[in-house]
Amino acid sequence: MSSRHLYVHVPFCARRCSYCDFSIAVRSSTPVDEYLNALRQELNRGALDGSTLDTVYLGGGTPSRLGGLGVRDVLASIRGHATISDNAEVTIEANPDDVNDMAVAHWVAAGVNRVSLGSQSFDQAALKWMHRTHDSAQIGHAVRTLRRGGIDNISLDLIFALPAQLKRSWESDLVRALDLEPTHVSLYGLTVEAQTPLARWADRGAIVQGTEESYEEEFLTAHETMTEAGFEHYEVSNFARIGMTSRHNSAYWTGAPYVGIGPSAHSFDGVTRRWNVSAYSEWIRRLANGESVISGAESLTDENRTFEEVYLGLRTKRGLAIAEDEMSRIRPWVSAGWALIKEREESQAALPASRFLLPASRSLRLTPTGWLRLDGLAADLAGHRARSTTAALGPTPSHCYI
Ligand code: SF4
Repeated sequence: MSSRHLYVHVPFCARRCSYCDFSIAVRSSTPVDEYLNALRQELNRGALDGSTLDTVYLGGGTPSRLGGLGVRDVLASIRGHATISDNAEVTIEANPDDVNDMAVAHWVAAGVNRVSLGSQSFDQAALKWMHRTHDSAQIGHAVRTLRRGGIDNISLDLIFALPAQLKRSWESDLVRALDLEPTHVSLYGLTVEAQTPLARWADRGAIVQGTEESYEEEFLTAHETMTEAGFEHYEVSNFARIGMTSRHNSAYWTGAPYVGIGPSAHSFDGVTRRWNVSAYSEWIRRLANGESVISGAESLTDENRTFEEVYLGLRTKRGLAIAEDEMSRIRPWVSAGWALIKEREESQAALPASRFLLPASRSLRLTPTGWLRLDGLAADLAGHRARSTTAALGPTPSHCYI
């Protein structure tokens, strides 16, 4: 397979943030050599050989914990197996406290041209409550250091729907983010995940979660503030200056194949999704013993495919092709202000072509208030389509696990 998109999972974090349930390895000192050796062993298994990559994304965890030389060596190892195209988007996720002139110089020399900065908030008390390792001032400092080093394509992450008791001003955080002139902003609505410090605080009543109304209010405030500032709200959680959408994430949202390496990384070949063992120590052990690192796989059934087509289409501004006989289902959404019907040609302009796109004269796009109901609306339409498909095709095989 000639894959055009590569995800590399770098699991290390200095400590676990209060809300985080990601697959990470908490280390005070990052075992860069051990990680690089294992990554090279996984690359030697050939998943990338012969590929030309349009996007490379180092995510985590905290890839910037690898430092300048570690990131350089990751990209050099990838180049031993694949070509990174001249105009590739090469992104690294970084925490503000890892950004310094020396590291940025190595990242740029290695081909990094986009940084997704884990800023989360500019409120000092909120950052402390989240167990972030950086303070508010370090965010601006990191942005200026990246620009000075030659990286202008900077995305900022922000978290909304924090508990009211923190008294964080969401409006102020949005303004301070805009003041730094990022090209891209990603939003995360705080949710309480099991096995996190946040879940333990919630269980013992130490925090009162924000209401549904405050979640909706902050999401809509972000939409208004960001679009007024000239950003395109191109995906439910993402805003970009014109032409600065995340090419890597857009590939996921259009159903394109991708390869993932590293612990917990997922790969997709257009039919089957596979995922690696999530624990760092187990990933290391299996590679050292010559064992497979794949812990599971799922071949998309017609029902899965239908749900993905609907969900991925509706989460983006691109929208979803709609058949004439679905209009009666959609009209109440339009009347409620949750959706718009667009002519097909117009709606295809914002994102690359999808394997899901079908010829149709019109498409459906959710509005911001529709995006607040994304799961329910997608389930409704996908359920309708799946019932139609199942009736036409008969039963389909279920998931297959390795
Ligand atoms: S830095 Fe990111 S991956 Fe690491 S603990 Fe915090 S939220 Fe999780």
